[in-house]
Formats: sequence, structure tokens, C-alpha cells
Amino acid sequence: MNIILLAPPAAGKGTQAQFLVSKYHMKHISTGELLRKSLKQDDEISKEIKERMNAGRLVSDEIILDLIAKEIETAKEGVVLDGFPRNRVQAIEYEQLLQKLGQKLDVVLYLSISKEVAKKRMKGRRTCPTCGKIYNMHMEEMLEELCGSCHTSLVSREDDNEETFDLRYETYMRETDPLISFYQEKGLLKQIDASKEKEEVFKKIEQILSTLS
Ligand code: ADP
Repeated sequence: MNIILLAPPAAGKGTQAQFLVSKYHMKHISTGELLRKSLKQDDEISKEIKERMNAGRLVSDEIILDLIAKEIETAKEGVVLDGFPRNRVQAIEYEQLLQKLGQKLDVVLYLSISKEVAKKRMKGRRTCPTCGKIYNMHMEEMLEELCGSCHTSLVSREDDNEETFDLRYETYMRETDPLISFYQEKGLLKQIDASKEKEEVFKKIEQILSTLS
């Protein structure tokens, strides 16, 4: 099964993707994570990617499509796409890529949330630099900011600050929000209220997936 998670920044795509991976053993492809990993290299491309991410802008389609093609071609089972596609060009290229591989897109899960709630989540978001697990300081009971799985000190993402968040949100509204009607017209879109607790959101996702064959 191939799933797209479509949502504004900090709505909980990464968290729901982790639930999907543990229940359905799908491959999680997060373009944001792939980009953050690629930043460890100290070259011109990394510099450009970093500048764009910290300005809340999209990284070029060419770079993203190259990353995605490599990941999808090696995925035997289904994939859960988190953060891709983020504009019309990427959506169309993804369709063509699937066609080439003889696969199809099964569903687009649109996690809807207000800007205010998303911003609050962004402020509380911490990730584990070792295992990638995502936490929220507003929602989890934590004595220290340590990963429950591997005890590493948690960190905040460099682009998780109020100013960059506002820019990311603007980019989302301009570039990504139009994909809602793009997938609605294809009959692939399912909307989920993502302001609910993460477990409740996942229950809704499970219900939706159980209706698909
Ligand atoms: P969030 O969804 O919370 O904004 P992500 O980790 O998905 O976080 O993305 C972080 C940043 O990475 C984006 O603001 C953008 O600069 C870049 N990025 C991620 N995915 C894409 C994509 N598909 N196309 C272009 N840029 C992307």
C-alpha cells in the first residue's frame, strides 16, 4: 500500500508515520529527514539546502525527486510518504514514477489542523538525534528531556522557531494546500482531524485503511 501524509508543518505527520511503520511494516520516507541527514556533508548543495530550509522555503524539485526516486525504487513493500509531494510538480512526477514502477497510490491522508495548534506543537517538539523518535513536551510526561528508547538527550530542530514556522506555513498554504483539491478530484483524499490526541488520530487512520483493499 502506498500512502501520502498531507498536512501543514508540525501537524503530526512524522508521529503518524511512525505508528504506520510499526503496525503495517511500511517503509517511511520523510523528505525532511532525508534532507537533514544529507546536511551532514559539507558541500555547496548542503549549504543551499540548509539556507532554504532555515528560510522556510522549499528545496528544489530536482533534489527532492532524485532523493525520492532512489528511496521508492528500493522499497519492496508499501511506502508512507511524509513531506512529499509538496507541490503540483512533485505530485505529477510521483504519479509518473509510480506508473513506471507498475504501482499505484492508494490513499492521501490529509491531517487537518489550525495554524495555532500546529504552532503550539512545533514549540513543544523534540526529536532524538540517535533513533529519530519524536516527542512533544506539551503532551508527554517527561522528567528530563531524554529519549525513552535510547536515553539520548533530545534536541529541537533548527527550523522549529516561531519566525521560520510562519514562513513554512506560508509556503505550505501557497504550494502544498492546493494538493488537497488535486487529490480530492482523483477520489483519493481522506480528511482526518489532527487536533485530536495522537492515538485517536491513528485510530481514525486504521479505520480508513481497513476500508481499502
Ligand atoms: P514540516 O512538515 O514540519 O515542515 P519537514 O521535515 O517535512 O517538516 O520539512 C522540513 C523542510 O524540509 C521544509 O520546510 C522544506 O524546506 C524541506 N522539504 C521537505 N520536504 C520537501 C519537499 N518535498 N520539497 C521541497 N522541500 C522539502
